[in-house]
Amino acid sequence: MQALCYQGVNRVGIETVPDPEILGPHDAILRVTMSSVCGSDLHLLDGYVPTMRQGDIIGHEFIGEVVEVATDVKKLRPGMRVVVGSIIGCGHCFFCQSEQYSLCDNTNPNPEITDKLFGYPTAGIYGYSHAFGGFAGSHATYVRVPFADTNAFEVPDGLPDERALFASDALPTGYMGADLCNIQRGDVVAVWGCGGVGQMAILSAYLLGAERVIAIDRFPERLAMARDRAGAEILDYEQVDVREALREMTGGRGPDACIDCVGMEAHGTGIDYAYDRVKQAVRLETDRPTVLRQAILACRKGGTVSIMGVYGGFVDKFPMGAAMNKGLTLKMGQQHGQRYIPRLLEHIRKGELDPSYLITHRARLADGQEAYDTFKEKRDGCMRVVFTPEA
Ligand SMILES: [Zn+2]
Ligand SMILES: [Zn+2]
Repeated sequence: MQALCYQGVNRVGIETVPDPEILGPHDAILRVTMSSVCGSDLHLLDGYVPTMRQGDIIGHEFIGEVVEVATDVKKLRPGMRVVVGSIIGCGHCFFCQSEQYSLCDNTNPNPEITDKLFGYPTAGIYGYSHAFGGFAGSHATYVRVPFADTNAFEVPDGLPDERALFASDALPTGYMGADLCNIQRGDVVAVWGCGGVGQMAILSAYLLGAERVIAIDRFPERLAMARDRAGAEILDYEQVDVREALREMTGGRGPDACIDCVGMEAHGTGIDYAYDRVKQAVRLETDRPTVLRQAILACRKGGTVSIMGVYGGFVDKFPMGAAMNKGLTLKMGQQHGQRYIPRLLEHIRKGELDPSYLITHRARLADGQEAYDTFKEKRDGCMRVVFTPEA
C-alpha cells in the first residue's frame, strides 16, 4: 500500500510499504477514508520529539471502513464505518477501567523511554514516534487498530466522514480541555490557540455551560473562525496585552478557567519568549511554555488552568508562586478519547456540534510534503488538511 512516511526533519514522502496485518486477537484492519494532519504532527516533524525513525508512517486522526477483524473482536464487522481515538487503550487495565485511556498500561510496547522520561510509561499513539509505541499511523491506505472494540466507534448512518473525522482527536481533545475546567453556568473561559483543538475547546466550553469564551491567537483567519464559527470573543496577542485585556473584559477578576491549546512550541512577544527560543535551540529547555505562563498569570484566583497543548519534556520559569498563591487547579493530559467519542458523535448527529469547518484543504497522500508545508506555515488560511487515501 501507499503511505506517507517521515523521512527526516520536516521531510515526508510517499512510500510503498507492506499492508498491515492482524497481529493479535483484538485487532481490526481499517481502510482509511479520511486522515487529518494535526498540530502535534508538527512537533514530531520539527524534531522536538525524539525517537522518530525514517520510514515511520505518520498520522493519528482518522476515520475508515473495517475490512478485517480478528477472532476476539465483538463489536465491529467488516463494512462498518468507524472513527478511531488517536490514543490506544487496552480497555482492561486499571487506567482504562477508570476511563483514563491515554494512561493505559498495556498499549505501549516500548515503555522504557517514557518510563524514564515521565516516571511511568503512557499509552501508545498512532504514528507518534517510538517513544509512544512505534505504531504505524493513518496517512496510509490501511491501518491496524489494536483492541478495536475499545478504540473504534461506529459512525451513525447519515453522518458524512467530514463531520465525524475530528471525533478522533481534535474534538475529544478540545472537549476534554473544557471538561477538565469543571465549567459552571456563567463562567468565562479563555482559550489560548485557535487551531483545531482550540476551536473545539471553544465550542465545547459553550456546550458545557460557559457564558463567554475569549479566544487568543495572532492569525487573523483563525481568530475570525473562532469568532464566526465558534462564537468566541477574540484577542490578538500581537495587538494587545493579553493579561490586561482579559482583566478588563472580566470586570477585573480574570477568567474562571484558562485552556492552553498551544503547547511546547508556543510563540510570544516578550523577553521570556526570546529566552525560551534560545534555550530550546541549544536544547537546555525542551519546551517553550509562553502560553502556560500567561494562562497561569491571567487566570482568576481559585480558577482552573487546563493544558491540552502537548509538552514533551522540561520548561523553565514556571510561575509556581502564582499557581500556588492563587490556589489554582492545574489539570492536563493527553486526551481520553474513548470516554468522550460516543457522546460527541451524539452531539454531532443532533447538529449541536459540527467540526467539519476545520477542513480548509484537501490533498492526496502523494502531495503530503506540500500539505504539511501549507499546514505548518498556515498558508492560505490553512486550518486542517485532510488526506483521502486511494484504495
Ligand atoms: Zn493530534
Ligand atoms: Zn489499558
